Amino acid sequence: MKNVIFLAPPAAGKGTFSDYLVKNFGYAHYSTGDILRERAKNDTELAELLRSGGLVNDDEMMRLIEDVLKNHDQNVPFILDGIPRTLQQAKKLDIILNSLGIIDIVAVYIDVDKDILVDRVVGRRICPQCHRSYNVKLEGFQPLEEGICDDCKTPLIQREDDNLESFLKRYQAFIESTYPIVSYYKEKGSLKVVSNNELSQTSAFENLRGVVK
Ligand SMILES: [Zn+2]
Repeated sequence: MKNVIFLAPPAAGKGTFSDYLVKNFGYAHYSTGDILRERAKNDTELAELLRSGGLVNDDEMMRLIEDVLKNHDQNVPFILDGIPRTLQQAKKLDIILNSLGIIDIVAVYIDVDKDILVDRVVGRRICPQCHRSYNVKLEGFQPLEEGICDDCKTPLIQREDDNLESFLKRYQAFIESTYPIVSYYKEKGSLKVVSNNELSQTSAFENLRGVVK
């Protein structure tokens, strides 16, 4: 299996795709958020930075990724999630991967129509107790009783940034910063596009399996 870099707008299904690869093909999943949280356990300065909502600078982030990949067992395929976020990071990542002899990489762009993303985000409701996720706008994903979790009967909540305005901001940021990376991988010939527009993800998973094989 190929190592995977996911490139996807917010709410496109990166989490679901990652879970699918981890569960079915034994992928290691390296998300920048997890890496930073793990590091912060032994690094009070970093912990403070994360608590205050600050951003880790490019060099530092790339150093952390390099560390993770150095210690990675190359017999196991991996997913990079949350990086690269900028074209500069993508180029640095290439240098790191080359120096470690990791060449079997595919950049997977998860393609979803913008109006579908809007429905997914604006309709999303979460159970604060068991973390089950629902969608009030999508048939088959609504709770049986309005506003109540099927499993544990807890009132559902809407996450603070699951609103149209916040979504459009994140989407625009994605287009501006990540889209040049998509072009970069396309020119290198390592970009694959997997559509995730359907509610049933059977065919999306099948396509994903095809491009990472
Ligand atoms: Zn629940």
